[in-house]
This record gives sequence, C-alpha cells and structure tokens, in this order.
Amino acid sequence: MIKKQLNLLRTLEELDLILKDMASPDYKKIGFKITKPTLDFVKTAEKERSDIAKLIEPRLLASYERIMKRYGGRVVVQVIDGFCGGCYIKLPSECVSRCSREISNCPNCGRFLYWVK
Ligand SMILES: [Zn+2]
Repeated sequence: MIKKQLNLLRTLEELDLILKDMASPDYKKIGFKITKPTLDFVKTAEKERSDIAKLIEPRLLASYERIMKRYGGRVVVQVIDGFCGGCYIKLPSECVSRCSREISNCPNCGRFLYWVK
C-alpha cells in the first residue's frame, strides 16, 4: 500500500517533468534530435497524469503539488545511507525507520522519502 502510493507519486513526478520539459524553450537543447512532441502525445501524457492523480490519496496529492510548486522537481527522493536525497541533511534515525514503514517526509525540506535498501 505504501509502496503503491509512493510509486504513483513517482510516476506523477515523472509525467510532470516530461510535460514541463516539453513546454520548455530549452527542449531542443536536451541533446536529442527530436522534433516537437505531437499534440497526440501531449494529450496522452496529460490524460495519463490526470488518471494517476485520481489514484493518489487527496492528502498526499495536495502535499505533492505543494512540494512540486516549491522545488520544481525531485518531490520523491531516496534516503541515501540515512541522508535525505533532496536536501542532503542527515535524517534523524526514527525518521529513517519510519519511512521504511510508512509514507513520510523529510523534516527539513518536506520531500517524500523512499528507502531502497
Ligand atoms: Zn530533505
């Protein structure tokens, strides 16, 4: 359950970044020789985004939107050896153990934390 919601949040983040990249004038500088995304693709990505957003608990979604607005990306970050992958602080140990059991946020930057190992 926790994993599922976290995965949805990560998927949402990826879609948001794709949509943001597509709208950016720097799109062509990313390095790929690609033409502008077709309207079909944009529509598909937007639909996908709204479908996924519906599956996320409203409380988490609201929090996600707030963090995305604030940082413009990296909403869901890894805990790397006890450090927050978003703001790099050393997380309190109770916070590290909590994020392996439930969805939790960094006490400093507020990003969602996930645990790989
Ligand atoms: Zn942080």
